[in-house]
Amino acid sequence: MTAVLVIAGCDSSGGAGLTRDVCTLTQLDARALPVVTAVTAQSDARLHAVHVVPAELVRAQMAAAFTTCGIDAIKIGMLATAATVRAVAASLPATGPPVVLDPVLTSSSGGELLDRDGRAALCAMLLPRATLLTPNIPEAAALLGTRSARDEDERLRQAAALLALGARAVLLKGGHADGPEAADLLLTADAAPHWLRAPRSPAPRRGTGCALSAAIAAGLAAGLPLSAACEQAKQHVTQLLQQRD
Ligand code: PLP
Repeated sequence: MTAVLVIAGCDSSGGAGLTRDVCTLTQLDARALPVVTAVTAQSDARLHAVHVVPAELVRAQMAAAFTTCGIDAIKIGMLATAATVRAVAASLPATGPPVVLDPVLTSSSGGELLDRDGRAALCAMLLPRATLLTPNIPEAAALLGTRSARDEDERLRQAAALLALGARAVLLKGGHADGPEAADLLLTADAAPHWLRAPRSPAPRRGTGCALSAAIAAGLAAGLPLSAACEQAKQHVTQLLQQRD
């Protein structure tokens, strides 16, 4: 069984965050090693409270996970503060398993999941370590300090700008756009833009971004090339969107 280190926050509604990540990895036959960065109290309608786990405890969780078993991939989600970003960056191995960085900035239940200093620290310290960055349209705009992309050409330009910031590859997710298809754009420095398209789900569902990045990490852990890992993850999330609970 492959092992994926998941660094993320807990969502008490059960829809997103670490619970969704672990559930996704289990479904894809990967073992999850969870590192908790924050405990959030949220319902689908509101973010009530966030308790940030001290940076030294994040470091300790990561160090313990690395001594538990070989890690085949790392997924990073909610980080909350710059101190947590620094702790994670300092605890990542200099070389080694692929890193999927999901730049979780806000919750759809309303509320900030990474503060302003944390965003700057993420760009400076984690983005260059990421095998893949997986922003949605508002997150890409926020990281670049610009407006949300309005069409596919603008998304292509923003993905290229994120590559220029240091990410090795960018999957700019199209869930927040309009139209009959949810089209995600995979951009790397050395290949043509690759659009992953699926019919748009009529009803949104929380935690789809978490599930997508966790599923990509599972694919990379299993040795899939990046584009195949993204395709497999897109299929997984499309199925998740078709299920209603
Ligand atoms: N809450 C936590 C703890 C998360 O990690 C995330 C996403 O990663 C979210 C909320 C956001 O999920 P959604 O946009 O589906 O509300």
